[in-house]
Amino acid sequence: MAELVKGALLYTGKAKEMYATNDPEILWVEYLDQATALNGKRKVAVTEKGLLNNRIASLIFTDLKQHGIENHFIEQLSDRVQLVRRVQMIPLETVVRNAASGSFERKFAVPHLTKFATPVLEFFYKSDQLDDPFINESQVAALDVASAAVVAEMKRQALLVNTRLQAIFKAMGIQLVDFKLEFGLTDQGKVLLADEISPDSCRLVDQQTQASLDKDVFRKNTGDLTTVYQEVLQRLTAVEGSQA
Ligand code: ADP
Ligand code: UDP
Repeated sequence: MAELVKGALLYTGKAKEMYATNDPEILWVEYLDQATALNGKRKVAVTEKGLLNNRIASLIFTDLKQHGIENHFIEQLSDRVQLVRRVQMIPLETVVRNAASGSFERKFAVPHLTKFATPVLEFFYKSDQLDDPFINESQVAALDVASAAVVAEMKRQALLVNTRLQAIFKAMGIQLVDFKLEFGLTDQGKVLLADEISPDSCRLVDQQTQASLDKDVFRKNTGDLTTVYQEVLQRLTAVEGSQA
């Protein structure tokens, strides 16, 4: 294969920049040292955040692959760069919840961290303009966002990811409260897990202290994000290192 070369900037997101490469099937992803909240309205520079999330996401995607859950990850190229398979993104955020927090807790006024007997699955329509509204399956169909078969496949994969992530985090002494996934379609029409899995997109709680180990410390201004993400990476490295 010819040497891979970074190409044009395709998209600047809130947490990552996506670049083309000389291979039309491969994207060059740069994880940024910045954190945003309120859908980008609050944005600050955070030391090492890009490096930490890139490493955490790379380790998790690799683990999922080893456990039979395909995803877009190809390889980590450097501290802040990873290569991924380019897909046509489906504009839905798939949220899986194992316990009540965030918008669920607010919406239904249930006690924080109430455990669910079976995981709760929700979709949000990915639109910064509309503030990512909740969307149900019949609304997905009405807006022609994704076919019923694609939605069913996203749900199937999201639950498999949940089972594996719960095991990884449990081994790290962490409760996986909830998380968000994004999927895309390959040229062959296959639903493929994409974007990132990191403390930006998961709610993680220390099993012993109940301390937040995720972006909530930034959202709620309760701690230092870099320190918390370093803790997550350190525990993840210990678990994944002893796995092989
Ligand atoms: P946001 O768009 O929410 O600000 P990011 O800063 O994480 O988020 O930007 C990454 C963008 O790249 C998102 O729009 C995401 O949907 C998209 N993306 C993630 N993985 C892929 C992929 N494999 N192929 C194409 N686009 C992707
Ligand atoms: N989430 C995310 N990106 C978003 C919205 C939510 O990664 O744009 C994640 C969030 O970190 C949490 C889960 O999805 O792990 C559920 O979020 P929730 O609906 O509770 O929203 P919040 O109250 O956090 O805005």
